[in-house]
Amino acid sequence: MGVIKTITANCKDCYKCVRHCPMKAIRVAGGHAEVIDELCVVCGTCVRMCPQGAKQVMDSKGAVRELLASGARVVLSVAPSFVASFAGVSPGAFAAAARGLGFAGIFETAEAAQYVARRSLATVDDCAAPAIATSCPVVVNLVERYYPHLLEHLIPVASPMVAHGRMLKSCMGSDVKVVFAGPCIAKKDEAGREETFGAIDAALTFQELQDLFEQAGIDPIAAASTATMPTIVAPGGADCADCA
Ligand code: SF4
Ligand code: SF4
Repeated sequence: MGVIKTITANCKDCYKCVRHCPMKAIRVAGGHAEVIDELCVVCGTCVRMCPQGAKQVMDSKGAVRELLASGARVVLSVAPSFVASFAGVSPGAFAAAARGLGFAGIFETAEAAQYVARRSLATVDDCAAPAIATSCPVVVNLVERYYPHLLEHLIPVASPMVAHGRMLKSCMGSDVKVVFAGPCIAKKDEAGREETFGAIDAALTFQELQDLFEQAGIDPIAAASTATMPTIVAPGGADCADCA
C-alpha cells in the first residue's frame, strides 16, 4: 500500500527528494519524482525534504470521519507523545476534545507497551541473536526489503499499536473500531499490512488529528478537562499473550 504520493502539480522537479531518499526508492517518471512503493520503507525523509510540499502522505481523515459517522463505537488509541504534539493540553482535556469529535473512548497506546515488553523478553530467545525489536515499522520494512537475511533476528511480537488495537477489541468487543493517532506516518503502512489487518481501522498523524479538531471547531487547550484517561483491563491479566 503506497503511503506517499507526489502531487505533480506542486512538484518543481528539483529532485531533492531523489537525492535524499536513503533507499533510492524514488524514480523520475514522466518528468516527476515518483515513489517506488516496493522499495520505500516509509521513513518520511522525502516528505520533510521537499521544499514544495509536493510529497503527499495518505490522508486518513476521511476514513475516520466515516467511521465516526457510521454509528459504530469508535475508540482512539493515542501514542504517549501526544503530550509533546499537543503542548499545553492536559490528558483530561485531550480526552474531552477527542470525545467531542465522537470517539467513545480514548486510551493510551502505552498501556500495550508493557505487554509487548513482557512478550519480547519471553520470546527473545526464539529468534537469532542479536534480536531486533519490531516496535518500529520502518525498521521492519528495512529488514524485510533490504536485509532479508536478518529476518530471523526480528522478535516475533506485535508493535504496541497493533497489540493495543487487538487488546481494545478483545476487551471491548470485536465490533469496536480502533483509530490510532501518533507522530509517525509509517503507522499508516503498518495498519494496512496483511498480518496486522483488522487490529487498527485507521491511523492518523497528530497533524491530521489537529486538523480534525480545527475543522470541528474544537480547541483542545480550551476543552474542559475530564477525568484522566481510562485504562483497559486486559482479559489475559498480566500476560495478554493473544494481543502481543
Ligand atoms: S523534492 Fe519535491 S519538488 Fe523536488 S522533485 Fe521531489 S517532489 Fe518534486
Ligand atoms: S519515505 Fe523514505 S524510503 Fe520512502 S521514498 Fe521517501 S525518503 Fe525514500
